[in-house]
Amino acid sequence: MIKGFRGTSVVDYPGKIASVIFLGGCNWRCPYCYNVDLVLPERLRELPDLSEEEVLSELRRREGFIKGVVVTGGEPTIWGRRLRGLLERIRYETGLEIKLDTNGSNPELLERLLEAGLVDYLALDFKTAPSRYEELGGRFEPVKRSLELLKGLDGRAEVRITVVPALVSEKEISEMMPYLEGIKRVALQKFLPDVPRLSPDLPGGYLAKEEILTLAEKIRSTLSTEVLLRV
Ligand code: SF4
Repeated sequence: MIKGFRGTSVVDYPGKIASVIFLGGCNWRCPYCYNVDLVLPERLRELPDLSEEEVLSELRRREGFIKGVVVTGGEPTIWGRRLRGLLERIRYETGLEIKLDTNGSNPELLERLLEAGLVDYLALDFKTAPSRYEELGGRFEPVKRSLELLKGLDGRAEVRITVVPALVSEKEISEMMPYLEGIKRVALQKFLPDVPRLSPDLPGGYLAKEEILTLAEKIRSTLSTEVLLRV
């Protein structure tokens, strides 16, 4: 399950120095995904597994320096009970705060993890207009329910939108906007076109900073939401 570990990051957990744990596998195939090694089974098999013991001991070694742990993927929620077990160990054996990254495809599990107090910060990737989710190999219905969950979390959650020109333009943002109502924090992230992708046919290019600012303003003015720019 655990395929990677980064000891220190200052960009993955808002406001905290954190370690990052990468879980392998994903139930979707977003064309712009750059985590190819963590997603394609034939590539994933080549990556050695890390044990929970190893990772927990790395976390303990950084006690006092890191303040949080980010659990990311791939898509962490495909691991169900095993993900819960890992979060419980992090929570009870280190006391560190936990951020979970997700594509939102498993709202039932997210709800149970939140109820159990195992997630301090939830980041959900809202990838394109609902009508285009099938292009990612996913369905929007569960994502819609996950977005509803985020609304109750106030400052403990964010929706991230990676501005991939082929999937996120003004038209898609207009379709996404109603589902962002009530979300307290939205982060727009720049798409980096020069990294190897799951789909080599994905049209290249990226939006200029000014174009992303225009999208941010549209969201901010319509929804009164905090919009962070990671560009
Ligand atoms: S959900 Fe995330 S990890 Fe999975 S294919 Fe899409 S971008 Fe990659």
